[in-house]
Amino acid sequence: MEGNAVRLRNLRKVFGRTEAVADVELGISDGEFFSMLGPSGSGKTTVLRMIAGFETPTSGTVELGGKDVTNLAPFERDVHTVFQDYALFPHMTVEQNVAYGLKIRKVPKAERLRRAAEALENVRLEGFGKRRPSQLSGGQRQRVALARALVSHPRVLLLDEPLGALDLKLREQMQIELKELQREVGITFVFVTHDQDEALTLSDRMAVFRDGRIQQTGTPAEIYERPASPFVAGFVGTSNLLTGETAEQVVGKRGTFSVRPEKIRVLKETADGSGDPEPDHTAATGTVAEVVYLGDATRFLVDLDAGGRLTAVQQNLETSSEEVAAFRGTRVRLQWHNRHNFPVAEAR
Ligand code: ATP
Repeated sequence: MEGNAVRLRNLRKVFGRTEAVADVELGISDGEFFSMLGPSGSGKTTVLRMIAGFETPTSGTVELGGKDVTNLAPFERDVHTVFQDYALFPHMTVEQNVAYGLKIRKVPKAERLRRAAEALENVRLEGFGKRRPSQLSGGQRQRVALARALVSHPRVLLLDEPLGALDLKLREQMQIELKELQREVGITFVFVTHDQDEALTLSDRMAVFRDGRIQQTGTPAEIYERPASPFVAGFVGTSNLLTGETAEQVVGKRGTFSVRPEKIRVLKETADGSGDPEPDHTAATGTVAEVVYLGDATRFLVDLDAGGRLTAVQQNLETSSEEVAAFRGTRVRLQWHNRHNFPVAEAR
């Protein structure tokens, strides 16, 4: 997909002796929900701040809508940033908070009020306009911050861990609302998070960062099912790496492979320990080190006879917790289709 809304070319940022961002090349299309995912300190916030204009690149360029904005101030760019702490004005009403940016730009009062009401409706806060931020819940404050960003119809909305302050249940609910909102308004969202589930849930595409560099860019399914490196395989989901001999036997190629836990079937080992794998399947034998009952599914940690440990997750279709517990310490055969073996390049 060609980037049109945002294009970063050779972007680099050095703070003193820290290279926070190195050689970032990235294109984000109009209307995309794009996430930047990575561990703490991997450079994603610095990239976001360079798109917003709060940080000047050491080298490289930022383009918005095909225009080079590298040297423009934040307010000269067609973007708006939503921060984790929302930064609402406590002494103003919700309506005044939302309309504030329009007031600064001298938009007439009647239009300000109309657009603020529309933005509050977008985030399902009709009727909350006269309250003050202190009279709202965390999730409602978050929505006011979003309404304030939407009211100016920016080309790109930048969101820096906007759900980080919410508890898990509310966070999951807001993820769904945010996704719906983005579809509704059609604005490009660039979202920073260190939470892989959040990135997978929300994104059309995502980039995985490590040490100031992008490790992989792709759709959630591409990243999850075809991780390009052991780092990505481990950071987004359970890596389940198989190396060397196993991989060689299995697919006739030497290297490191990743297989996702839910692709693996856990079978009781046959009495004589034999049993051929189904055609086009990979099989491995081992001992169940641990079973974790998850309610809707069970997680098995299996120590392989060939060395190493794999995690397998099975849906509890007809299995009870007692049956699950009985697997601990038993011998099992693991089996999965060869198409679920993904080669991952060695770490740099
Ligand atoms: P987090 O999830 O913790 O916010 P991040 O991936 O967003 O992390 P950045 O905040 O972009 O990472 O930081 C990248 C690197 O740059 C870190 O090593 C950080 O310490 C450094 N850094 C960021 N801002 C500054 C600054 N203003 N001065 C000096 N170093 C900085």
